[in-house]
Amino acid sequence: MTADVTARTVDFKAGERNVFFHLLTACNLSCQHCYINPPQHGTETLPTETVLKWLRLFARPKQESNLILLGGEPTLHPDLALIIRAAKSLRYAVTVDSNGYLFHDLLERVRPTELDFLSFSLDGPDAAVNDPIRGEGVFAVCTENIRKAVELGFRTSLIYTVSSKNIDHLHRMPALLADLGVRRFFIQVIGLRGKSASASDEGEQWQVDPGHWLEVVPEVAQQAARAGIHVTYPKVFLGPEESFACAGRVAENYFIFPNGRVYQCPLCEDYPIHCLCLEDDQLVKREGLYEDRFFALDIAEGCVMNKLLQPDTLEYHLDGRPKHRISCCMLKQEILPQNL
Ligand code: SF4
Ligand code: SF4
Repeated sequence: MTADVTARTVDFKAGERNVFFHLLTACNLSCQHCYINPPQHGTETLPTETVLKWLRLFARPKQESNLILLGGEPTLHPDLALIIRAAKSLRYAVTVDSNGYLFHDLLERVRPTELDFLSFSLDGPDAAVNDPIRGEGVFAVCTENIRKAVELGFRTSLIYTVSSKNIDHLHRMPALLADLGVRRFFIQVIGLRGKSASASDEGEQWQVDPGHWLEVVPEVAQQAARAGIHVTYPKVFLGPEESFACAGRVAENYFIFPNGRVYQCPLCEDYPIHCLCLEDDQLVKREGLYEDRFFALDIAEGCVMNKLLQPDTLEYHLDGRPKHRISCCMLKQEILPQNL
């Protein structure tokens, strides 16, 4: 049977809740495009007791929520295994996003059935592409640990952050993923946050122009699907007939940081405009001019925060109309694996 390799847009689903929980901001690596911003996100490693209290606040006993455990490097948290088990008992579907180093013997301390996905980040199909971005020796460690995880029976996924440094090597990823036995492939677009924002200020260009993105990414996504891999990539540009939706208005996404900030839009994370915060282990709504007040604005360019924070990504016709409308950064395209 030949499956459909056409990408479909994954609309925001009413009632779906995604909790992106940064347990700490410390990391053993210092990737060139790291989006972690300690002055904004804090430097502490959250005590386990606090993590468990905050997990209870966001859990829904009658319905599954998605939990993505992040850092920094989340496997540096000494109690990650305990946190995963506690989250499963609270009806979370749990993913751990790791840079591949898997500290504290995670593969020995958690069973494959206790974790929904173990996700690895890699930004190139070989060390020559990946390591200048993520660090010397990282490709070898990460791919070795992916192989170990797959052998042990963990469901694995891989995140590739597309930038001008690696977009022309993306086409070599499907073969690598098939060889490693990775089941899901998340292609991301570099954001103007953290270190990549300051590199752009200093004249180093990481962004990918729309034409280049559209020429490369959908084609590689189809190749990966044909290799039996489930692929997700951001929509980025809306077609003329497609409607715009802001996840901040229609979905439940929470981006939690160790200093208690809770954002609903990831584009806002470099600024103190979070509309929620955790105070005395309670979720508190902040009253004032914060991110949520912007979600309601309708503009011709699509995403309001993109226009405010990344205006250089927009192009206009001579009459002032935008050439592209930018989708919500959380709107995804998905292609199911061909062998399912
Ligand atoms: S692994 Fe992640 S948190 Fe660590 S430096 Fe790289 S991008 Fe930043
Ligand atoms: S990225 Fe844009 S559209 Fe999406 S939640 Fe943020 S402001 Fe809304």
